[in-house]
Amino acid sequence: MKLNTAAMRYLSNDDFRVLTATEMGSKNHEIVPTTLIVQIAGLRGGAGVGNCISELAKSNLIARVKNAKYDGYRLTYGGYDYLAIKAFSNRRTVYSVGNQIGVGKESDIFVVANEKGRKCVLKIHRLGRISFRSVKNNRDYLRNRQSASWMYLSRLAAQKEFAFMKALYENGFPVPEPIDYSRHCIIMSLIPGFPMRQLSSHEDPSALYSSLMSFIVRLANHGLIHCDFNEFNIMILDEPKSEDEQFVVIDFPQCVSLGHVDAERYFKRDVDCIRRFFEKKLGYVSEDYPIFQRDAKRVASLDIDVQASGFSKKMVKEFEKAISESREKGENAADQEEIGEEDDGDKEDEEEDDEVDDEGENEEGVDPEDEPEE
Ligand code: ADP
Ligand code: MG
Repeated sequence: MKLNTAAMRYLSNDDFRVLTATEMGSKNHEIVPTTLIVQIAGLRGGAGVGNCISELAKSNLIARVKNAKYDGYRLTYGGYDYLAIKAFSNRRTVYSVGNQIGVGKESDIFVVANEKGRKCVLKIHRLGRISFRSVKNNRDYLRNRQSASWMYLSRLAAQKEFAFMKALYENGFPVPEPIDYSRHCIIMSLIPGFPMRQLSSHEDPSALYSSLMSFIVRLANHGLIHCDFNEFNIMILDEPKSEDEQFVVIDFPQCVSLGHVDAERYFKRDVDCIRRFFEKKLGYVSEDYPIFQRDAKRVASLDIDVQASGFSKKMVKEFEKAISESREKGENAADQEEIGEEDDGDKEDEEEDDEVDDEGENEEGVDPEDEPEE
């Protein structure tokens, strides 16, 4: 999905108030009644609000929903993006938005810069993208889990990723520096490097292999398992600092506590991923690899620290449930092709009960060039 930064400059204060009111209203309403938007915005004169609403709808920041029990609007991806970026801009963590450098199954990645010209990475979580699309055959999912909307899940993902990145960064793990977060977005440092999947040879595979395995063990010693530790989520630095510091690990929304019931399986899966990559791509095989029972001994508890810092146990549970449901269903979908078709999927689901008046609201298709090789 493209990011519509053009609309950002032209919104008036009143437009912004109305957009914020729509966001607030959507905490309790899937479709926010127009009357509620007017009430929350607290602007005098109904006509003024009406103009704001139509401006916002024209910019595709909100979308009108007809034929429901009442007349109302919902925030679009674009509207939610706008609010997050506006918050970053107010806090001066983002001044300009540059190129998109990645599009994953569940995120869009952009290079951004602050006023001083420091380049950073904006990661926009788009969790509902997979789950909404892949629930076509399972209507109950949406019906029973109204609270697990794309907005809510994407926000939880960003919050979780930021919390873990912060804890890891502060404990000296090689991860990006977490800079800011708002809603479904996080800002982190830009890693000068490339994903390990692009590596076709290495002068000393055994050193890289050992330090990656040490990372897994050290993470477990701190009470955590990454759960997606693969060649897409390991960035090889253009200029390695030392033998032990040649990579940075990204992408944490799915990481779990060592106390998780499936911890051993996840740990082994992370280890196996690395072994497989080294064997297939670098022709390197080692009989030396971490074993859960022997190596995953807890000496610190970042999992508990993170819970204490605001990502509560309840949130962890809710998120894990949602993400595993989403992944289970997503796994059956042929990812790449379907991303281009996501609009249809989304619309079909949303229009089941309500007709969405969102002509032109659809996200633009993903450029073939932007598609991930994941
Ligand atoms: P997803 O959850 O969609 O897999 P990731 O966090 O793994 O998202 O990011 C997707 C891609 O974006 C990565 O493979 C990498 O190429 C790029 N990327 C993400 N974060 C950074 C960063 N901090 N610095 C440089 N590149 C990044
Ligand atoms: Mg990734």
